[in-house]
Amino acid sequence: MRLFHDAACPCCGSEQVAPRGGFGATTGRRGFLAAAVGGAALVTSPVLAQGTATRSLRVRRQVTNEGFDGVYWRNGRYDRDALRQLDIVFRDLSAAEPTPMDPRLFDVMAAVAQAVDSSETWEVVSGYRTPETNAARSRQSRRVSTVSLHMSGMAADCRLPDRSSLEVARRAADLQLGGVGLYRRSGFMHLDCGPVRRW
Ligand SMILES: [Zn+2]
Repeated sequence: MRLFHDAACPCCGSEQVAPRGGFGATTGRRGFLAAAVGGAALVTSPVLAQGTATRSLRVRRQVTNEGFDGVYWRNGRYDRDALRQLDIVFRDLSAAEPTPMDPRLFDVMAAVAQAVDSSETWEVVSGYRTPETNAARSRQSRRVSTVSLHMSGMAADCRLPDRSSLEVARRAADLQLGGVGLYRRSGFMHLDCGPVRRW
């Protein structure tokens, strides 16, 4: 059985793809961010193994040469400064200001890198998209969803240079942490922290 199909991928489609199982209740993004970043409560993640004191990520945006390499979560909380730097890396390049990303996306990326035992730097092809950018892309290609999770800061198109995208996408799908889409011809995958599904 093939896990992924090159043809007819609803690029970064979210609600257009039938959920496979569930990833738990979908919390409103604003509410989640308030709880995760501003709240005093210990933040637990279903994504990464509990008990680790820190979570780190290495990402780079080739077109801007901006990157982040370091700890973004420590002692049960997301690091505000690290998130700010990550928001810059993942921003919509046509927008004047970066938009806050859902930090659970970084947990997904960290978990996937860990699962394939890679310490390489993620290349970020696309992160947050403004509604205008997404609409323009969906006009160019019907494979781009008009309800993309990129517009919620919950998705990234990315690749690990030292691994095949097929291998990484398979492992990511096995983890069942969110959406996984493989764009084999383009050599990257879509990862998000939304409902568990794959295409
Ligand atoms: Zn995508």
